[in-house]
Amino acid sequence: MQKRLVMTPSLLPSRRNFTRSLVVGVVLLNLVVIALAAFAIYQDKLEHDGRTRITTENTSLLIEREASAVLDRVDLALHSVIHEVEHRIADGPVDETHLNDFLRGHQSHVPEVASLRLTDANGVVRYGQGVQSGTVIDLSDRDFFVLQRGNPGAGLVVGRPTMARIGKDWVLPLSRRMNLPSGEFTGIVYIDIPIEYFVNAFSALNLGSHGLVALRSVDHVSVARYPVAESGGGGSIGQFALSDQLRQLLLGHPSSVTYIAPSPTDGIERTHSYRKLARYPLYVVVGLARRDTLDEWWRRTSQTAAVVFLFSLMTALFGGLVLRSWRSKLAAAEALQESEQRWGMALEGGSFSVWDWNLETGDVQLSKLGKKLFGFADDEIGDHITEWEPRCHPDDKAQVLAAMKGHLRGRTHNFDAEFRVRCKDGSWKWIRTRGIVVRRDAQGKPLRMIGTHTDISERRRREDELRMSAAVFNLADEAMVVTGPQDEIVSVNPAFTAITGYTAEEVIGRNPRLLSAKTHSKDFYLELWATLMETGQWSGEVLNRKKSGEVYVGWLSIKRVLDDKGQLTHHVAVFSDITARKAAEDRIRHLALHDALTDLPNRTLLTERLEQAIVHARRNMSHLGLMYFDLDKFKPVNDSFGHEVGDLLLKAVARRASACLRASDTVGRIGGDEFVVLLPTLDEGKDALVVAENIRAALSQAFQVAGHTLNVSASIGLTIYPDHGADEQELTRNADAAMYQAKKCGRNRVVLYQVGMQNVNR
Ligand code: GH3
Ligand code: MG
Repeated sequence: MQKRLVMTPSLLPSRRNFTRSLVVGVVLLNLVVIALAAFAIYQDKLEHDGRTRITTENTSLLIEREASAVLDRVDLALHSVIHEVEHRIADGPVDETHLNDFLRGHQSHVPEVASLRLTDANGVVRYGQGVQSGTVIDLSDRDFFVLQRGNPGAGLVVGRPTMARIGKDWVLPLSRRMNLPSGEFTGIVYIDIPIEYFVNAFSALNLGSHGLVALRSVDHVSVARYPVAESGGGGSIGQFALSDQLRQLLLGHPSSVTYIAPSPTDGIERTHSYRKLARYPLYVVVGLARRDTLDEWWRRTSQTAAVVFLFSLMTALFGGLVLRSWRSKLAAAEALQESEQRWGMALEGGSFSVWDWNLETGDVQLSKLGKKLFGFADDEIGDHITEWEPRCHPDDKAQVLAAMKGHLRGRTHNFDAEFRVRCKDGSWKWIRTRGIVVRRDAQGKPLRMIGTHTDISERRRREDELRMSAAVFNLADEAMVVTGPQDEIVSVNPAFTAITGYTAEEVIGRNPRLLSAKTHSKDFYLELWATLMETGQWSGEVLNRKKSGEVYVGWLSIKRVLDDKGQLTHHVAVFSDITARKAAEDRIRHLALHDALTDLPNRTLLTERLEQAIVHARRNMSHLGLMYFDLDKFKPVNDSFGHEVGDLLLKAVARRASACLRASDTVGRIGGDEFVVLLPTLDEGKDALVVAENIRAALSQAFQVAGHTLNVSASIGLTIYPDHGADEQELTRNADAAMYQAKKCGRNRVVLYQVGMQNVNR
């Protein structure tokens, strides 16, 4: 179970730090490898330079030895010749042929030389190869001849390389002086070594394609060179331009010097080994071109560079892969942490009722609000499922368990259940809980669930209310109609159909005026709407028409239904068919005001009408007449023919009296055989007498009742308003008095009231 999350700063390594560390690591590793490689290359270079230097020096030493050996042999030959020639001269004239043979023989000991010749004291070549009689070859101008002639101790003189006058080759002349026994100069013996010989010897050496071997005089005249320079004849002969560097090195007259310099001739940089010949005024120079010698080094260097480059590439790739995989892991970890933090906030923040259930341990974490919902403070109830389970309503348990099982087994996407929970105060609260399994083990066993709680008590209550309302709506005896804002019918109940005959389908969407009998005036409806708008409700009687066409009286109540903002949303109308009730009421009222036998107005109604008539007459200063009459000798009819016949006679009297009157007149029965006639509007008082006389005459005619001929008559007392009374009581009393007077005076007569009658009677 995750414990309450504290909002700590991220524990995950920063993305930037890691990237930087990785990049720095890879770069450092590469730098180390590059440095090691560079060091190895540098070492290799040093070693290589050392080897080149040794090779150059060894080669120069070898050439120096070789050249010295050749020159030694040449000098030995010169010595031998001088010894022989001086000896012969001392013995007498020299035999030319013999001397030439001697010279030829000696020359064969030094095959590398071009010639072995002698000159006389004047420099003319006398003996040796190529000397022909008649041809004078004079060497008196040659530097070596001049030197030998003028200097008895000159010894071996190595002359400047020169074009031989015999043989026409570039040669290096080596000479020695010949003396007479007196010590007088008698000529020189000299040997020309062909420059070609040196060049050939040098060419046999393998010094690379740009290698150089040169033989030079100590005063820096080039004697032989390989490869042959472009300019200069016979193997690059001529003054050699000494570089400053070499001049500097040669200051102390060292026997050998090694240095690196570009050639002033071809510009190629070489490792040079300068070496002086031990006994001759010559030196050799061996130059190995760095571009040749470094080839191998370059090859190894480029191999190393390639390996280093491959290494860099691999480490960069590896670093990239590590970074990518790390980033994706970090992103996942960050997403997880973020979601945990959000979840932690939901639990702590208190704006939601959320829960987090560890199915392994049974721990349930509820947010503060989640506990508060049930009336518990945060620390008032434990965090274990066993604390909550017993709080579920027993009736809801099975249903909740089924929903939970369904979700845990993966049959539903969500766990969703509604149930009641017992709160701290013992009350029940309806809860809707929705949750989801967020973690399962490898076998799919659920480990953790999270979800929310919602208090749906209010919704449940409203649903109950709605159910009750719907029941009332459907079961009510009264018709109910709900109309929308446009007065269209949106709903009716079964009683509506029972009363009106219209089904819901027939009226929904239509205006309720289809129910009207169209008997009410326009004003009636205007007033109805005005009242409704003003008070929010209206009730009253309306005349409606059923689907069958039958008109009925409805008792209608209409109420306006407003929404929260006071806007009209619906009208609700409730009505019932009160036709029957109305009829019953009318009947009762009729019975209350009419005589049951004759259906004529009774005393109550007569009194009412009389009062109205008096008010009217008083207002109009008009007259009205009131007469009382009682049948004469009626009792004997009852006695003779029975009560039923008496009843029939009374009815016949009522009809006959009514026939004598206008519609506005009223005849009523006030008891037994006693009747009242009200004449509310009289032009003149005496008109009432005429009417009274007519009634009397009519009633004195014989009646045919139930097969019997019956003769009765009436005694009529008459009063006129305002002549005989100002009010109903006075008029009634006086009419009665007048009637009594009529009885008294012999019956079957009309008596107009006169003052004093009352006192006399009763
Ligand atoms: P008089 O000439 O003095 O009026 O005498 P009368 O016989 O008419 O008798 P009176 O007016 O005193 O009485 C009326 C009689 O009418 C009495 C009663 O038996 C009879 N009676 C009263 N009410 C009814 C009734 O509803 N039906 C019948 N059949 N008889 C009635
Ligand atoms: Mg009577």
